[in-house]
Amino acid sequence: MQYIYETHCHTSQASACGQMTGEELARYYKNAGYDGIIVTDHFFNGNCAVDPSLDWETKCGLYCAGYRDAKKTGDEIGLSVFFGIEYSYVGTDLLTYGLDEAWLKAHPEVMEIGVKEYIKLVHESGGMIVHAHPFREAFYIDTIRLYPYDVDAVEVFNAGNHDPEFDRRANWYADSYGLVKVAGSDRHEPVSKARCATVFDEKLQSIDDYMRLVREDKIAGLICER
Ligand SMILES: [Zn+2]
Ligand SMILES: [Zn+2]
Repeated sequence: MQYIYETHCHTSQASACGQMTGEELARYYKNAGYDGIIVTDHFFNGNCAVDPSLDWETKCGLYCAGYRDAKKTGDEIGLSVFFGIEYSYVGTDLLTYGLDEAWLKAHPEVMEIGVKEYIKLVHESGGMIVHAHPFREAFYIDTIRLYPYDVDAVEVFNAGNHDPEFDRRANWYADSYGLVKVAGSDRHEPVSKARCATVFDEKLQSIDDYMRLVREDKIAGLICER
């Protein structure tokens, strides 16, 4: 038995570029045959939909609204929904797993510290970092920055990459440093047919299962359809 997971997707509640609410996102993935999703909305340093003038705790609560909606619907329709973050450093996107709303509320310094300090803090807190689409070229990415000795895995297939060469280079990068490979759709909208998924031999009961299987490189397969 194999289980199919989305590791990278966005809701309209927290991502300014998102086109589906958490509820719509959960229904979309259930219909598409996935077993679960990890909601990874753009954090405050990315294309976030949350009003930056609000206080920190309120912002953190609103940031998690899309995830909470997706989780509520997922529980009703039989789709696992887990929490993640897409943290951005001047266009370098780091998918962050294993943290939660309470952690965010307790760590406002994540907006002040450098990217290496952020990765260290996430690790000290028991979380995991996957470098999203490391070789994407786009208007909002000024430099390709790599952290091969800091990240836990590399997103080697991203359905949001418009040029397959970006994925090819990500594969080459992961091979070169012996880094674990995962795939994610980076889905924002229902219309795009392109999709990616990370496949496991066991059903994930929690985000801890995801982190454990990635860290141990126990990934059954990667799907990328364009
Ligand atoms: Zn986006
Ligand atoms: Zn994304």
